[in-house]
Amino acid sequence: MSLDGSTSPPSADRPLRVAVVGAGPAGIYAAEALTRQDAVPVAVDLIDRLPTPFGLVRHGIAPDHPKMRAIRDTLHRALEDPLVRFVGNVDVGVDISLEELRRHVDAVIYTYGASVDRHLGIEGEDLPGSLAATDLVAWYTGHPDAPRERVEAALAGVRSVVVVGVGNVALDVGRVLARTAPELESTDMPQHVLDVLAAMPVEEVTILGRRGPAQASFTTQELRELGELEGADVLVDAADLELDPGSEARAATDRNVTRNLAVLRGWVDHEPTPGRARVHLRFFGRPVRLLGEDRVAGVEVERTAVDGDGRVMGTGELSVLPADLVVRSVGYRGLPLPGLPVDERSGTVPNEEGRVQRDGRTSIGEYVAGWIKRGPSGVVGTNKHDARETVAGLLADAAEGVLRTEGPVGDLVEELISRGAEPVLLDDWRAIDAAEIALGATKGRARTTMHERESLLAAVRAAAAR
Ligand code: NAP
Repeated sequence: MSLDGSTSPPSADRPLRVAVVGAGPAGIYAAEALTRQDAVPVAVDLIDRLPTPFGLVRHGIAPDHPKMRAIRDTLHRALEDPLVRFVGNVDVGVDISLEELRRHVDAVIYTYGASVDRHLGIEGEDLPGSLAATDLVAWYTGHPDAPRERVEAALAGVRSVVVVGVGNVALDVGRVLARTAPELESTDMPQHVLDVLAAMPVEEVTILGRRGPAQASFTTQELRELGELEGADVLVDAADLELDPGSEARAATDRNVTRNLAVLRGWVDHEPTPGRARVHLRFFGRPVRLLGEDRVAGVEVERTAVDGDGRVMGTGELSVLPADLVVRSVGYRGLPLPGLPVDERSGTVPNEEGRVQRDGRTSIGEYVAGWIKRGPSGVVGTNKHDARETVAGLLADAAEGVLRTEGPVGDLVEELISRGAEPVLLDDWRAIDAAEIALGATKGRARTTMHERESLLAAVRAAAAR
């Protein structure tokens, strides 16, 4: 409320102030939807925990997918909009509480994603040599918070890998581990990541699905790419491709499944070439235990079948897959920000079309978009539609006077600095960007990602001192 106690609709002088928490695709698309409309004047603070924007585009999309990663150039344009202020290196819930943040803005959109891994809940899961795909992906994309020592210890000397799960992340992980050093050389992976991967004598990668090929969630383009690896052959067991009637029906109606099956059939009876690595796609097997004394030595797998609805059933038939690295790639899960409700089961914030629900009621001025709204599914572009739905609700609320600007409040960035935080703004991010490009150029690459938060902040400070 203003000093005289009145409220007023947003205006050019006093726009609607919106904080977007999370500068990944969902957050950037939300910022874009807010600024590409004329009905409600807005000013957007796009906040991220990291000193860098782009979320899973930077720290999720596989580095050997440069075309997909190039979407960052499009996302970057939204950051340059004068109505958007990038505020990186600020951890909401730590540097500033939700309550305090909400005092500085008229509305908040949470778009901070789903950052933690799901567990298998089986014996041996915590042995050294057992990793979550989230940690491995964070490490090879140079995420500052990746558990670097643990991942590098798990990868040392690894010859045989089992990846649990048959989604696109499992394919990414299996493919990156099966790549030869020259194939990865041109990526933007940090140099030490390239060195560790180059030193791994990987011979065998098994990607293991607990149901059949008709129930796998990977997509055909990603599957096909496995067959294009320079140093590895793909092997599929013909028996895994025999379909029960329910799976036949699914294959007949779902084009992704039809195409996946055609690709998989092309790999049956492949003769492995001596000296090349082997990538096995195995289905109808669920891990029941990780074996090993002081580190992983194998996976005990139970043969499964699917019922008419595609649900998994155990058969009791056990076998052992030797492995010195097991990567569980069984999905991501969202965590609550302190002060924000999260549904434990789905790992999402309860919402109705993006409006946050607290105790079954709409919480005025709080919204969600992206994975924390709908769960970890879809491709980058899915977030565009998702963010637009949320922003449409927010703008409708603003137009109806539900969100009202309540007089002058202090500037968020000034407040953060006064608390000892070190916000990274657009020019600072540009300095990081330039430093990574310069680092890449020393090896003839387009970019080399800087892994440590301190190196990222050092680039900011060096540019500020010039
Ligand atoms: P996902 O597609 O949901 O796959 C998870 C996999 O884990 C499924 O095969 C699932 O099998 C399996 N699983 C779950 N619990 C399990 C358990 N207890 N034991 C054994 N297996 C288990 O998730 P994701 O691969 O993490 O990908 C997340 C999203 O990002 C997806 O939308 C994906 O398409 C997207 N993405 C896209 C790309 C790309 O476009 N290139 C790349 C990476 C990620 P069930 O089906 O039997 O549960």
